[in-house]
Amino acid sequence: MPHDPVPALLARATQLLEAEFALLPEFGAAPDLAGMERVLEATARRLADNYPYFHPLYAGQMLKPPHPVARAAYALAMTLNPNNHARDGGRASSAMEMEAVAQIAGMFGWTEFLGHLTSGGTFANLEALWVAGRLAPGRRIVGSEQAHYTHRRISGVLQLPYAGIAADSRGRMDVDALEAEVRKGDVGAVVVTLGTTAAGAVDPLDRVLELRRRYGFRVHVDAAYGGYFRLIPEALDEPARRAYAVLGEADSIVIDPHKHGLQPYGCGCVLFRDPSVGRFYKHDSPYTYFTSKQLHLGEISLECSRAGASAVALWATQQLLPLVEGGEFARGLARGRAAALELDRRLRADAHFEPLAAGGPELDIVVWKLRAPTAEQASELARKLFAACAARDLHLALVQLPHSWFAPASPAGSGNHEGPVTCLRSVLMKPEHEAWLQRIWERLSAACAETVGE
Ligand SMILES: *Cc1c(COP(=O)(O)O)cnc(C)c1O
Repeated sequence: MPHDPVPALLARATQLLEAEFALLPEFGAAPDLAGMERVLEATARRLADNYPYFHPLYAGQMLKPPHPVARAAYALAMTLNPNNHARDGGRASSAMEMEAVAQIAGMFGWTEFLGHLTSGGTFANLEALWVAGRLAPGRRIVGSEQAHYTHRRISGVLQLPYAGIAADSRGRMDVDALEAEVRKGDVGAVVVTLGTTAAGAVDPLDRVLELRRRYGFRVHVDAAYGGYFRLIPEALDEPARRAYAVLGEADSIVIDPHKHGLQPYGCGCVLFRDPSVGRFYKHDSPYTYFTSKQLHLGEISLECSRAGASAVALWATQQLLPLVEGGEFARGLARGRAAALELDRRLRADAHFEPLAAGGPELDIVVWKLRAPTAEQASELARKLFAACAARDLHLALVQLPHSWFAPASPAGSGNHEGPVTCLRSVLMKPEHEAWLQRIWERLSAACAETVGE
C-alpha cells in the first residue's frame, strides 16, 4: 500500500478542532483502549477480504479511492458527526454543503438553481424523477435500455409508468426510437444518460433537446458517473463533446461525487435548473428544529438525516482540487481517459480481442469481447480470462452486452448475433491507470495466452 498521509494530517487537524472547544469543562470516562485496539485488529483482518480497490491493478468496477484530504476531512468531521438535515444539526457543514454544491452546479454554468447532496446517485435520481412526476402527474418516464436499472425501479416506487428506449450498437439512446415514443404525447420526462454504467456511452443530449423543443417534455440527465467529464471537453470525441456542451440546458442533473469526485461512499448530488421546484419539498414537521429563518437543507431534500461529514469531505476536496477546466482534478480525469484510449488501441491490434464495432470508448470505460465462433464460447473465454487476470492481481469486470454490438467473429461464425454475450469491462478511472497501462497490458496478455492455450 502507498504511504498513507491521512493519520498525520488528521492528528494536526484534530488538535486544532479540539482547541476550538477547549473552554468547555472536561467530561467523559476513560475509553477502553485495549478493547478497541483488539477489535480494530480484527477489523483490519476482516477488511482484507476485498479486492485492492486503491491499487492501479484494480481496473474493474467503478471504484475510485477517495482523496486523502476527503478521508481526513470526513474523519475530522466525525469528531462532531454533524447532521445536515438542518442548521441545528450541522451549522458549518450545511454551509459547506451549499458552497460545494454551488461549485458543482458551476461546472454546468448554473448560478441560480436548487440542489443538495444525497446518499447516492439512486436517491438523487429518485428526487429528480419525483419532481418530474409532480410536474406532470401520470405521464411516462422514458430512458434508454442502457440507462441505469434503478430508473425503472424508481419509477415503480413513484408509481410513474416507465418505458425503455432502444440503444444503438455503442450503447447510446436511439433518438429516432425516442421520437416515436414522445410523439405519442404522454411522456413527462426523458432520462438522458451521460456516461452509462456498462460502457460509458454518452446519449446524444443535443438531439434530445431538439425533440424537447418540438414535443415539450422534461429532460433529466443522469450524469452520476460521467458528469465530471464536463471539465475535459478537449479530451472527448464528437458526438460526446456536443452532448456535454449543452448539459446546462437540462432540467435536472444528477452527479455522484462518490463515483468520480474522489469522495467516500454516501455522496450523490441532485441539481434542478429551476429553483422554484423547491415548493414540492415543503413540509412542516413538528420535530424539525428551526433556529434560523434561513431555508435549511432538510426543506429541500427528501431524506431527513444526512451525513454532514460527506459535505465536509467534498468541500475540502474541492478547495484543494477546484472543479475547473485545466485544473489538477480535470487533468486526473484526462489521464484515465487516455488510459482507456490506449487500452482500446491495443485491444484492436490484437487478434484475440474484439472491441465495440461502432467505435472506441466515449469516456474511460472499455468493454471488449473475446473472439470466438459463438457467443457461448466467447462468454466462457471471458469468464476464464477474468479469473486468469485476477490470479495475476489484475482485476477486471464482466459485463453482459448485446452480441449485435460486435462485428461477426469470422465469416464462418454462427452469424447469430441476437442475445447477450459476456464481455470484459475495465473502468480506468484512476489517474494512475495511464502510467500503469503497460503493466496492465502485460498481465492481460499473459492471462490471455494461458486462457486460449497458447
Ligand atoms: C452508479 C450510477 C447510478 C446509481 O448511483 P448510486 O450512487 O450507485 O446509487 C445511477 N446512474 C448511473 C449512470 C450510474 O453510473
